[in-house]
Amino acid sequence: MPGAAGRADARPARTVTSETEAIHRLLVASVRDYAIFALDAAGHVMTWNAGAERLKGYLPEEIIGKHFSIFYPAETRATGFPTYELEVASREGVFEDEGWRIRKDGTTFWANVVITALRDETGTLVGFAKVTRDLTERRTAQQQAIEDALRVAEAEAANRAKSQFLAAMSHELRTPLNAIGGYIDLLSLGVHGPLSDAQSQAIERVRNAQRHLVTLISDLLNFSRMEAGRLTYEIADVDMAEVMESVRIMIEAQAAARQVEVHWKPAEGPVICAADQARVGQILLNLLGNAIKFTEAGGTIRIRCARDGNVVRLEVEDTGIGIPADQLDAIFEPFTQVGRTLTSQQQGTGLGLAISRDLARAMGGDITVGSEPGVGSTFTVTLPAAGS
Ligand code: ADP
Repeated sequence: MPGAAGRADARPARTVTSETEAIHRLLVASVRDYAIFALDAAGHVMTWNAGAERLKGYLPEEIIGKHFSIFYPAETRATGFPTYELEVASREGVFEDEGWRIRKDGTTFWANVVITALRDETGTLVGFAKVTRDLTERRTAQQQAIEDALRVAEAEAANRAKSQFLAAMSHELRTPLNAIGGYIDLLSLGVHGPLSDAQSQAIERVRNAQRHLVTLISDLLNFSRMEAGRLTYEIADVDMAEVMESVRIMIEAQAAARQVEVHWKPAEGPVICAADQARVGQILLNLLGNAIKFTEAGGTIRIRCARDGNVVRLEVEDTGIGIPADQLDAIFEPFTQVGRTLTSQQQGTGLGLAISRDLARAMGGDITVGSEPGVGSTFTVTLPAAGS
C-alpha cells in the first residue's frame, strides 16, 4: 500500500522509535509468564516486570539495585556460578541455563534462564537482559514420566523372571511325573507280578493323582509361555461342531461321574470361526470342566454355538453355585479362586480362566461371564467368524 507507506515515511523517525520503545516497555512490563528484567554490567537489577514480581515474589522497590545472585541457592552462589554466567554472556553474547532458583519466601523453583549481553552502538557492555521461566511443573511431569517408565520396566523384568521360573519348574516337574506314570502302567499291567483288588484300586488312585498333577503343570507351563509371549497360533477355518464333538468325548465320563447333565445344542448349519482349533478346544474344555466342577449333582449344563454378525459366539451355561458380582472380574486373574480354602473339594490352579481369556484375546476374541449366585453362570466366548 503505497499510501500507507508514504504516510509512515512522512513521520519523523524519532516519533516512531519512541512510540515503539513505549510499546516495548509496556509489553515487557505486562508479561506475566516470564520474568524479564535488566541487570547492569556488574549484575545489579535495574528493571523489574510483572512476571518477575509474580515468579520471584519481590516488589520492584525491594529488588532494584540488589545483585542478581540473590536468586541463587547459597551453594550455587558459593561456586561463583552467577558471575560465570555473566562472563559467558558478555563473551558469547548469550548464556542459557536450567537450574534451581530461590523466591523471596525461600521456596525453590526450576528455572530456565537466558541472559543476553546488552551493548551500545560503540560495543561497550551496558548490562544484561535476563529472561526467566518457571519450569517446575514441566520438570516434575518429566521426572514423574521417568519414574513411571522405570517402574514399568522393573515390573516387566520381574514378570519375565517369574515366567521363566514357572517354565523351568514345570519342565523339571514333568520329567519325574512321567516316570511315575510309566511305572504305574508297568505295575497295573502286572509286569512285577499280579495285583490284588486293593492294590489295583490304590494304583488307580495314584494314576488319577498323577494325571491331575500333569494337568496342573501343563496349565502352569502354558501360562508361563503365554506370559513370555512364546505361544504360537495356527489360525485357520475351524468348524465349531468338530471342536464341540472332540470336547464332548473327553468330558462325558467326568460329567456322568458328577451326575451333571450336559446338553449340546447344535447350531443350525455350520458355524465356522477363524481360530486355532486346538486352542478353541482348550478353552471349551476349561469352561466345561469348571461348569461340571461348580455344579451340584442333578444340575444341567447347556452348550450353544451360533454366528452373530462378524463373530462366533459359544456359550457354556450351568445351573451351578454361581459367582458373586464383585468377583466376576477377579476370576479371570491368575491364581484367583472364589472362596477357596485348604479343605475345599474342588481342585485347580486358578489359572484356567486366565489362560482361556488370554488365548481367546490372542485370537481376536474374548470371554465374558454373567452369573447369579445360587442360580448359575454363563460364560460366553466370542471369536472372529471365518471370512469376516
Ligand atoms: P480353577 O478352576 O483352576 O480354580 P479357573 O481360572 O478356571 O481356575 O477359575 C477361577 C475361579 O472362578 C474358580 O476357582 C471358581 O471360583 C470360579 N469359577 C470358574 N468357573 C465357574 C463356574 N462355572 N461356576 C462357579 N464358579 C466358577
